[in-house]
Amino acid sequence: MSRRNEAPEETAASRPWERNIRRVTPYVPGEQPQGGRLIKLNTNENPYPPSPGVCKALRGLDPGALRRYPDPAASALLKALAGYYALEPEQVFVGVGSDDVLGMAFLTFFNSDRPMLFPDVTYSFYPVWAELFGIPYETCPLNADLAVDPRDYDRANGGVVFPNPNAPTGCFLPLGQVEEILRHNRDVVVIVDEAYIDFGGESAVSLLGRYENLLVVQTFSKSRSMAGMRIGYALGSPALIRAMQDVKYSYNSYTMNLPSILAGEAAVKDEEYFKETVGKIIETRENAKKRLAALGFTFPDSKANFLFIRHSRVRAAELYDALRARQIYVRHFSGPRVEDYLRVTIGTDEEMEALYGFLEEYLGAG
Ligand code: PMP
Repeated sequence: MSRRNEAPEETAASRPWERNIRRVTPYVPGEQPQGGRLIKLNTNENPYPPSPGVCKALRGLDPGALRRYPDPAASALLKALAGYYALEPEQVFVGVGSDDVLGMAFLTFFNSDRPMLFPDVTYSFYPVWAELFGIPYETCPLNADLAVDPRDYDRANGGVVFPNPNAPTGCFLPLGQVEEILRHNRDVVVIVDEAYIDFGGESAVSLLGRYENLLVVQTFSKSRSMAGMRIGYALGSPALIRAMQDVKYSYNSYTMNLPSILAGEAAVKDEEYFKETVGKIIETRENAKKRLAALGFTFPDSKANFLFIRHSRVRAAELYDALRARQIYVRHFSGPRVEDYLRVTIGTDEEMEALYGFLEEYLGAG
């Protein structure tokens, strides 16, 4: 068919509206393969179900209640979290996973011409938010042991963020060193992203009373087995929390849906179950350190629910493919300093045995 009478096709660059589109390179979340028989150790989820209290709260939810908007302040959840940490509700902010909370915090607090700082090897969402919001940033290289060096954060900047334990390394920065960073950064907001703190680290929440510019961010996705519910929170001085709320209410008032408010509240109240599952994961992790070391892997010491492992002989990319072919999913990142490693989430003992079994076989034959 002749196209002679049609207007010439516009190229992407020539369509005027395209020039006004905000171009971003997005964060790439870990794969969520579907199916029952696979072993999923790639996105740091908890292998155990949420607390029985959470299941009860969800079963008891009257679907008729969904007719109404949820409480925009998510007061029941704020109150439960404030009680748990012995803080005031005015010191708690909740959001749709800690990604939502961190994104909101970047937008609220990093509004300076000076570059904000974070480690070079860290949560790969930080540079994405910085680019999206037009925040200048610089990275501070981890030291040879893949640890954060507090002295790198002792210079003029527009704010600081780092995970503790760091991801994907699992390294925990002792609280004294976290405080050293705070002592040298009194004029900017310092965010400590504690997504993995419950697996053996010591939280910076105890420093909140002394540092009004400290924001501690945590999540229900890991230690509370609720990644699918999407609940994260920030703890800080009332001045910081108010500023975040003003930004939130300028964007989307109803971030927390009713089921998450109720399920989140129930999870916080079931401390016994929380301690039991976290304890099991720590035990499995400590055993994994021994088993993987015996197989020729090295790794920074982890206080998270994952290990960042490297083999002395076999390349990470090769192992990743071999594991995947056996339906064992782990995470492999490309890029300098990380491409030699695999990040392996701690699963149940049975899942980990399947991993060791495959590795023994594969490496023995290699
Ligand atoms: N911070 C770090 C360091 C993480 O690894 C993750 C998990 N991807 C998050 C925050 C976000 O987790 P969530 O949004 O599920 O709370």
